[in-house]
Amino acid sequence: MSVPICRYLYAVITPACFFVAAGFLFSCAPSERVLSGRGQKVFAQDRNVRILLLKTKEGVSISSRDKIKVSEEEGRYKFIPSGKKVMIRPELIRRPLYVESWNEPIQVNNSRYRGTISLHNIAGTLYVINSLKLNEYLYGVVPAEMPGDWPLEALKAQAVAARTYALYRILKQKNMLFDLDATTSAQVYKGIDVEKASCKKAVDETGSMVILFQNEPIVSFFHSTCGGKTVDDRFVWQGSDLPYLKSVHCGFCSASPNYLWEYSINVFEIKRALNRRYPEIRTVDMISLKKNQGRVSNVVVRHSHGMANMSGNDFRLLISPEKIKSLAFDVKKRGRTLNISGHGWGHGVGMCQWGARGMAESGKSFREILIHYYRNVSIKSIDGDTRHFPTIARRVADSLHGRLGTEIHD
Ligand SMILES: [Zn+2]
Repeated sequence: MSVPICRYLYAVITPACFFVAAGFLFSCAPSERVLSGRGQKVFAQDRNVRILLLKTKEGVSISSRDKIKVSEEEGRYKFIPSGKKVMIRPELIRRPLYVESWNEPIQVNNSRYRGTISLHNIAGTLYVINSLKLNEYLYGVVPAEMPGDWPLEALKAQAVAARTYALYRILKQKNMLFDLDATTSAQVYKGIDVEKASCKKAVDETGSMVILFQNEPIVSFFHSTCGGKTVDDRFVWQGSDLPYLKSVHCGFCSASPNYLWEYSINVFEIKRALNRRYPEIRTVDMISLKKNQGRVSNVVVRHSHGMANMSGNDFRLLISPEKIKSLAFDVKKRGRTLNISGHGWGHGVGMCQWGARGMAESGKSFREILIHYYRNVSIKSIDGDTRHFPTIARRVADSLHGRLGTEIHD
């Protein structure tokens, strides 16, 4: 049965209701940045890595097989009995709520999570954030990003890349409400239900290892299949040009089902897709591609009223990122049909996951895999000698042990 959470809280906090209401009436809707701004006291649950599970204007259900404690910042709290499901809607939250369960994961809608959950009402939208230890987070990332039956060395390479990416975001976004979201815009995280023994082993055996460039954690991008060669980040994202994200020959990903692909689309469908951004296009006369390192960096569409110039990535997103699986493609027009053929799946920057699998199958270690795809980097365990990177080491060690600082400062 679902019970509105406000009823529980008001039962506990009645004497303070006026102040809660007054605070609500007189304060502006907080921004993400304000909520965890410089020097502001932040609950212990917010240490570790903080993952945005979802944003919704609807409600979420929260439950656990064990007793749940729901707290407000001021220390007011209420226990929810084990097995009881509560519905939490954004309009019922005046202050952030923190949810802990004793010995069981917390279920949010249909998925269960380690660690704690916090709920925030940001301008009428409910933000659901999971805080947990970095490696426990990786237990739910590695199997979501790579099949658990792949070779252990590939899984270990994935674990180190995912740990490094998370760390980069923790350090970069430490004053935001959360560090990463749970989707492909960061890295996919699905909680405890997808965990696999092989992936946990990969996370545990790589402990606190991260990829460093000049003693800083790298932005360790990865993708499904490069199709033969990875690409410089600068040809995919404008303004990006990192020294360790350079094109490398792969040659290990030919077993991928997306190594080669084809897609046919008629010119009317293309026009309709392009009209979302270029409403002036009435007919598509010609499409020409400019390539760098084998990938389309620029697309020019000649149409009835002139030219439309866009990046290859924008073209891919407008037509269909599911159908045009990478920027390594060619276009041939046959009558009213456009045949698009390409290779690889994903942006093509950094580690090729199918390539990591191929390298592991040929006997390469996770270190050899990572050093192949990320140039001039070192793989180091942060728990070891900390003299060369004390700041990072301290924060990673704290994160791994669940105590990422007592205050959040710049
Ligand atoms: Zn590859």
